[in-house]
Amino acid sequence: MNFFEDELKLLEEVGTLVKASPELLKMLAQPEHVAEAKLPNNIPAWRVQYSSLLGPYKGGIRFHPASSLEEVKALSFLMTFKNAVLGLPFGGGKGAVRINPKELGTAELERVSREYVRAFFKILGPKKDIPAPDVNTNPQVIAWMLGEYEKLAGQKSLAAFTGKPVELGGSPARESATGFGGFVVLREILKFIKAEARGESVAIAGFGNVGSNLAEILAENGFRILAVSDSKGALFAPSGLDIKRIIGDREKYGRLLQNICYFKPLRGAAREVKCEVISNEELLKLPADILVPAAIEGAINAKNAPDIQAKIILEMANGGVARDAYEILAERGILIIPDILANGGGVAGSYVEWSSSLAQKSLPKEAELEKIEAIMAEAVGKVWAKSRELKTDLRKAAYAVALAQLEDAFQKKMR
Ligand code: NAD
Repeated sequence: MNFFEDELKLLEEVGTLVKASPELLKMLAQPEHVAEAKLPNNIPAWRVQYSSLLGPYKGGIRFHPASSLEEVKALSFLMTFKNAVLGLPFGGGKGAVRINPKELGTAELERVSREYVRAFFKILGPKKDIPAPDVNTNPQVIAWMLGEYEKLAGQKSLAAFTGKPVELGGSPARESATGFGGFVVLREILKFIKAEARGESVAIAGFGNVGSNLAEILAENGFRILAVSDSKGALFAPSGLDIKRIIGDREKYGRLLQNICYFKPLRGAAREVKCEVISNEELLKLPADILVPAAIEGAINAKNAPDIQAKIILEMANGGVARDAYEILAERGILIIPDILANGGGVAGSYVEWSSSLAQKSLPKEAELEKIEAIMAEAVGKVWAKSRELKTDLRKAAYAVALAQLEDAFQKKMR
C-alpha cells in the first residue's frame, strides 16, 4: 500500500470514529485541483491544491529527482490536516519539480524557480495559494519566485509566498520555528503525563535544520541530549552532549565531527573529550526517555520497533515512524506524538509571516515565537483532550481534531 492510500485509510477509520458526514469524507478523498506542467527541457512540475475548505491552499514546493504526482498528492493531503489541526485559516497544497538541484548551477536553479511561477501563476496568490520552501528549496528560491510573481502581477505581493529571506519580509523566527514548535509540543505533552518534567534524556536522529534547532532548545530547557546523528553516524555521551559546541563545530566544518565532541559532565564545567561514536541504528535503540526521528521517512519501522527503548517518540520528520511500526510501538506502550502535530511549528511560523506580510508589518523574533507557541500549545491541548474523549492514540486524535474543523467549515459553506 502506498503512503497516500495509507493516509486515506486512516481518514476512513477516523471518519467512522467521529461519525463524519459521508459527503465530507468523499470530498476529502481526492484533491480539489491537480495542476501539471512541463517546464522547458521537459521537466515535470506539479501543484496540487487539495482542500480550500479552511482557507487558501498552503504548502511547500520541493525540487527532487524522485518527485511524483502521487507524492505531491499525499503531501498536500497531509498539509490539509496539519493546517486544520493547528487551527490555521489555510487549506492544504503542495508543489514539486522533478529535478536534482545538486546537478544545477545557480543560474539554472533561478530559471527553474521562475519558470515554475510562470507555469502556475494563475492559480497562485496571497488569498489563493501560498507556497513556501520544502526539500531542496530555500529562501533564495522563494525570492526568485516572489520576484517573478510580482513581475507578472504588476504589483508588490509579499504575502504570495512565505519562507522569504528576512530582508525581503521573511520571518526572523522561520529558521528555528519547526524545532521550537516541536519543543512546545513535547513540553505540553509532558505536562499532561507527569507532574514535573526533570532532565529527561533525548536521542535525536538527524541534525539538520529541525534536529539541531530542537536539540539546542531542549538543551537550554534542561533536557539531557544523549545522542545526535547525521547521515554518517551518531555521537553519544551518557551524561549529555554539549549541543552549543557541537553546533558551533558543525557550522565551522559543515558536518558532525566524529573524532571530537563535547559532553556535559554531571558536575563541573564542560570539557573536551573523545565522544563515543555509534551507528544510526544504535542511536534509535538507546535507553533515552524520548526518541526524535528528525531526518528521513520510515527511520523507525517494523524491523527496529521491537528494540526501541524510549517511552515517547516525537515524530519531527514527516512519516518518521513507518505505519507498520505503529501497532508494535503502541502495544509496547510507547507514546507517539505524530508528525502533523509535532512538526507543525514550521507552518505556524509561515502563518505568522503571511499575516505580517498582508498587514505590511514586521514583528521581532520573540513576538513571532510567542505567537507560534500559542498556536502549538492550543493544538496540543485539543489533541490530548480528543485522545482521552475517543480513547484513541494521538495520531487518530489529531486527525479527529482536524476533521472537526473541516466538518464545521463544510456544514457552514456547503450545506
Ligand atoms: P535537513 O536536510 O536540514 O536535515 C536532515 C538531516 O538528516 C541531516 O543532518 C542529514 O545528515 C540527516 N540524515 C539523513 N539521513 C540520515 C539517517 N539515515 N540517519 C540520521 N540522520 C540522517 O532537513 P530538515 O529541514 O531538518 O528536515 C528534517 C525532517 O523534518 C524532514 O522529514 C522534513 O520533511 C521534516 N520537516 C521539516 C520542516 C522544516 O521546517 N525544515 C518542517 C516540517 C517537517
